[in-house]
Amino acid sequence: MSPSVQAFMDQGADFVVRDSLPDLVRGMNELTGHDAVEFGTVAREVADRDLQMANVFGKDPQLAMVRGARALINERLIRIVKPAPLLDPAAGPLIAVRLNILTRKTLGGLETDLQARVLRPDGQPMPGLYAAGEVAGFDGGGMHGYRSLEGTFLGGCLFSGRVAGRCAAAALD
Ligand SMILES: Cc1cc2nc3c(=O)[nH]c(=O)nc-3n(C[C@H](O)[C@H](O)[C@H](O)COP(=O)(O)OP(=O)(O)OC[C@H]3O[C@@H](n4cnc5c(N)ncnc54)[C@H](O)[C@@H]3O)c2cc1C
Repeated sequence: MSPSVQAFMDQGADFVVRDSLPDLVRGMNELTGHDAVEFGTVAREVADRDLQMANVFGKDPQLAMVRGARALINERLIRIVKPAPLLDPAAGPLIAVRLNILTRKTLGGLETDLQARVLRPDGQPMPGLYAAGEVAGFDGGGMHGYRSLEGTFLGGCLFSGRVAGRCAAAALD
């Protein structure tokens, strides 16, 4: 067990660690204080997943991706844990993690043009107001075009800051 996973298991307020699936589901419901997690549903999903795990020709797309990735040696070397059936006692214990909702992307709010000028509802620039970064939308307000690619936002955010700064400076000339 890696030290960081062990630390979460020992101290993680959102972690439930148990040796059997019924105990795990009971622990999940105790953590949240209501019975939202239904044992039958979890047991069925886990059994389905473990069947797919046992079958190298299985159709589960996530496991197919894992198998494909593990064809590369660097993938096999950097992963801490080998894929295993969830109910394999040798791969235990079972760990459930309570998820919390957070805002990952604001997706902007201010419409800008490619000079980073903030536009009014009528499409005209608001004098003296510039916006850069995600507040202007994906990757700095469409600096990569309308279809941004996940993982390329930061570059556009930085670039839109440069554009905003340059255009603001030019407007003062
Ligand atoms: C989990 C996650 C993973 C990501 N992974 C990638 C990735 O792999 N590659 C990639 O390119 N992009 C990635 N992104 C997107 C990228 O990180 C963001 O698009 C980028 O950081 C946005 O930069 P920003 O400066 O526009 O906004 P932010 O980084 O959100 O900065 C806004 C700042 O304003 C501050 N602020 C807010 N309100 C106020 C206020 N009223 N007064 C003063 N300060 C205020 C906030 O505290 C914050 O520091 C990821 C984003 C997330 C959340």
